[in-house]
Amino acid sequence: MKINVKRRENISKKLFYSAKKYIPGGVNSPVRAFKAVGGTPVFFEKAKGAYLFDADGNRYIDYIMSWGPMLLGHGNKIVTNAIKEQIDKALTFGAPTELELQLAEKLCSLVPGMEMIRMVNSGTEATMSAIRLARAYTDRDKIVKFEGCYHGHSDSLLVKAGSGALTMGEPSSPGVPKCLAEHTITLPYNNIQMVNELFENIGSEIAAIIVEPVVGNMNCVPPIPGFLEALRKCCTDNKALLIADEVMTGFRVSPRGAMAHYKVEPDLICLGKVIGGGLPVGAFGGKKDIMELVSPQGSVYQAGTLSGNPVAMACGLATINLIGNDTFLDPVIKITEMLCKGLEISAKKHNIDLTTNSAGTMWGFFFSKDDKVTSYDQVIACNTERFKKFYHGMLTKGIYFAPASFEAGFLSSAHTLEDINYTIEAADEVFATL
Ligand SMILES: *Cc1c(COP(=O)(O)O)cnc(C)c1O
Repeated sequence: MKINVKRRENISKKLFYSAKKYIPGGVNSPVRAFKAVGGTPVFFEKAKGAYLFDADGNRYIDYIMSWGPMLLGHGNKIVTNAIKEQIDKALTFGAPTELELQLAEKLCSLVPGMEMIRMVNSGTEATMSAIRLARAYTDRDKIVKFEGCYHGHSDSLLVKAGSGALTMGEPSSPGVPKCLAEHTITLPYNNIQMVNELFENIGSEIAAIIVEPVVGNMNCVPPIPGFLEALRKCCTDNKALLIADEVMTGFRVSPRGAMAHYKVEPDLICLGKVIGGGLPVGAFGGKKDIMELVSPQGSVYQAGTLSGNPVAMACGLATINLIGNDTFLDPVIKITEMLCKGLEISAKKHNIDLTTNSAGTMWGFFFSKDDKVTSYDQVIACNTERFKKFYHGMLTKGIYFAPASFEAGFLSSAHTLEDINYTIEAADEVFATL
């Protein structure tokens, strides 16, 4: 099959230039602006199953799925009907509903270690609140995170490593107070030795480790064997809490979360993305004796006008009811692995250094000379110029990958073997031009 697509982009371009007048950078979240790949972003109009349709009428196979949430594909009828039914009843009460109880029960029954849960509106809120709670529970201020992990944009988490390995953190954005950043220590992901050293030195000062069990924010990097176990041990030995940020991995790596997949139990768990099924939902939860500190049961303040919003709960519940069983992910994982394998084989044919990672339904490709990518240093050493060329080549052929080499890719149950084969054939043609 010869793939020949001529992409139209007049309307997207016009909309982008107009949007830049009113919205900083023309977008409501930075990665959407295409800065990492050059050119102008695609503006979308509608989506169905695995496909996106842009403002110019072009069709794409979607490998972003709204950065994870759309695990059932776009426009799943059961999910959209659940939303429509709720919309006719009420949009919001700012008061309790049975729907939020049902979603809470469902999530607690699926995720090991989730004994109580609080709904919020985004992943950022979930991690921010989990950290406040961990600090209150342990009566300590310091938190540990890992280079390449992203936990939303709250002040304590917009911090990068200081100059020395074990020194205090520095703000990674203007506006973050230095005095707050000093309490956040950033270590290299998958480096067990440095975690052990840190805890030997100042373990009794650390409130919590927060980690993405599979990192989906420096492309896709799974944990090396023993890494998550080492975090668990350090936390247990030093009475610190282990916070699993499963905002991305939850229901994508396994139906019970990535920590369940790796058989390591966290103290607190953050969820988001998939649990909203496409509407803004986040959640944090975990061990009962910790969660009981959350207001109004306890004194750790946390609130939200639209938290547990009934429309969002109806959407999330319908989604999790379809996904939350032991076999749903299997076929999606299978095609994810086939896509990775297919891209590797095709790249090899064209003498292009490329390696892939996948964990469940999350995946990523790296233009790297290394056989396997397991660290942040390896991710940033990848050939970004080659990525940009490949990206635009694939876009022209109707493949919508994340517009940055530091992002994971996502599949859904709406993707077919045909979509995967088309994508591999398209890549084969683009590899030939690199
Ligand atoms: C997306 C993401 C967040 C932030 O969630 P938002 O809903 O964008 O605020 C936090 N942690 C991880 C691991 C994420 O992937």
